[in-house]
Amino acid sequence: MTEINILALSRVPVCVTCGTQYPDVEQRDDCPVCRDERQFVGWDGQRWTTSAEVAAGHEIRFEDAAGVMTLQLSPRFAIGQRAFLIPQAEGMVMWECLSAVTAAAVERIAGMGHVQAIAISHPHFYSAMLEWSAALGGVPIYLHEADEAWVGFDSPFLRFWGGDRFALTDAIDLVHLPGHFEGSSGLLWKAGPRPGGSLFPGDAIQIGMNRRIASFMWSYPNAIPLGRKSLARLKAHVDPLAFSDLYGSFDGKEMIGDAKASVEASFARYEAALEG
Ligand SMILES: [Zn+2]
Ligand SMILES: [Zn+2]
Repeated sequence: MTEINILALSRVPVCVTCGTQYPDVEQRDDCPVCRDERQFVGWDGQRWTTSAEVAAGHEIRFEDAAGVMTLQLSPRFAIGQRAFLIPQAEGMVMWECLSAVTAAAVERIAGMGHVQAIAISHPHFYSAMLEWSAALGGVPIYLHEADEAWVGFDSPFLRFWGGDRFALTDAIDLVHLPGHFEGSSGLLWKAGPRPGGSLFPGDAIQIGMNRRIASFMWSYPNAIPLGRKSLARLKAHVDPLAFSDLYGSFDGKEMIGDAKASVEASFARYEAALEG
């Protein structure tokens, strides 16, 4: 993709509340992601910005989180998720995405190596994925096909995968973790960064403040829990996965060591709560 495309993308609408970029429109009355029951329209009404404006007022902070490089907009913007750069033999995988691209961040990433793919857990983190793909040289973006309707544009860089598991590299599988969204997915790094492996679950599994209890919600901002059937379905997708570390969507939300056992205990705790 050319510089001109990147420049054009940096000027299309980005929702201030959820950080989603809408490449195919000049202006939108409302943001479909925020109108959904899982999110919310900002208390001052729908507001738009552009990624160029966000980039002008923020920096992208790089930080090691328990052995994995993370990227985050600083000060916090919109939902405030972090993205991860996971080293692989064939080039890095960018897991999750941010709402703005900065020249400094692109330069720093180039200094670390080549990015072979972007993969994202669910629509709340689609953010400026197309602009990031272009800025990194036209990188494919992997999304679960069950959430295709949430993508508001066509692009030759989109790759929709289906089913329960997709081998992205020799060491990384994308795994379907339905519940929060029908297409919610996670990234399973089978033997990294430590030998027991790690799961990056997006919002499918939310790590609590004590970093030992996890929860599983349909909406986090509106506190709408998953029902019994949805919980059982999610658990059936998590059960076959082997991991010892869990890397959540937000700053500091890591569960390092024995994370699988903690997630299993959290499912049991949730089931007991449903029983009253
Ligand atoms: Zn929004
Ligand atoms: Zn979410």
